[in-house]
Amino acid sequence: MRTLYRSSVTGVAGRREPRRQLAGSGPRTGAGRRFATLGIFLFLGVAIAAGPVAGQQNMADVEITTVELESDLFMLMGRGGNIGLSVGDDGAFMIDDQFAPLTEKILAAVAAVTDKPVRWVLNTHWHGDHTGGNENLGEAGAMIVAHENVYRRMNPAEFAGLVGRSGQAPRAALPVVTFDQGVRFHWNGRHIEVTHIGRAHTDGDAIVHFPRANVFHMGDTFFRGRYPFVDVDSGGGIDGVIAAANFVLERSSEGTRIIPGHGELASPEHLREYRDMLETVRLRVAGLVANGRTEDQVVAAAPTADLDALWGENPERFVRAVYRSLAGS
Ligand SMILES: [Zn+2]
Repeated sequence: MRTLYRSSVTGVAGRREPRRQLAGSGPRTGAGRRFATLGIFLFLGVAIAAGPVAGQQNMADVEITTVELESDLFMLMGRGGNIGLSVGDDGAFMIDDQFAPLTEKILAAVAAVTDKPVRWVLNTHWHGDHTGGNENLGEAGAMIVAHENVYRRMNPAEFAGLVGRSGQAPRAALPVVTFDQGVRFHWNGRHIEVTHIGRAHTDGDAIVHFPRANVFHMGDTFFRGRYPFVDVDSGGGIDGVIAAANFVLERSSEGTRIIPGHGELASPEHLREYRDMLETVRLRVAGLVANGRTEDQVVAAAPTADLDALWGENPERFVRAVYRSLAGS
């Protein structure tokens, strides 16, 4: 019997919520071993609101929570983007790696469920709260894989024509394998399918599907329970975020579990509500754009007023991103 700890539901930005204990049982060895940590708060709003380089300080209080999806498939939560983790005879396969100061704690959480090293790190996109551990893990021997645009945005020195946001990463942090449309891993007895969704949260998003487990990792194309950050300056756009939600919903069934970029583990119903909200806001903003409203006028029209209580009290950044997606600025 192992004990897992998970936080309580909703995961609304910046809201502190106490964690509750869930008893879970694992069929494998190590009976009685506790591999999850407890009692943490996420402060997600801080990490997101201030952008990808935020959250570098005050990492001492962060603890990594392990959520078991199958006996060899996990979600790790700490600070920054949620981590996906497949373990087995071939070695650990990790999806995203949060911030560099957390690598030691993340590796301790990995070591609690496998004695094998991290062999692969797949980045869902380039933001620092998902790739901050790349340098540490790359130096430790992990192969980093990402969409080609992640490589470009993390290595702008090589790409003079790159427009919008980027940030030079150390060599060891850069992906060593990149893909365009997608890539498939055959690893730990699983077929892991990675698909690029164009111009969504950024221009380099990957959605990861574990078909046998019926699990998806959506990266930051999905913020559970709140308005998303759509990084238009990194090539993102509202239509791609909606397309990402539809991509997963079309492949979902009742038992599907979805790891969002931020927030608690989700169901297709959570994703459907989120997709519907995105479409509603898109439709309203598109109407205002068609009537010739400027960006500030669209914000002033408060097109999300009836949604804010549920999806977030500060919709301005989201509304501006939707406007800019549609107006093409
Ligand atoms: Zn992001």
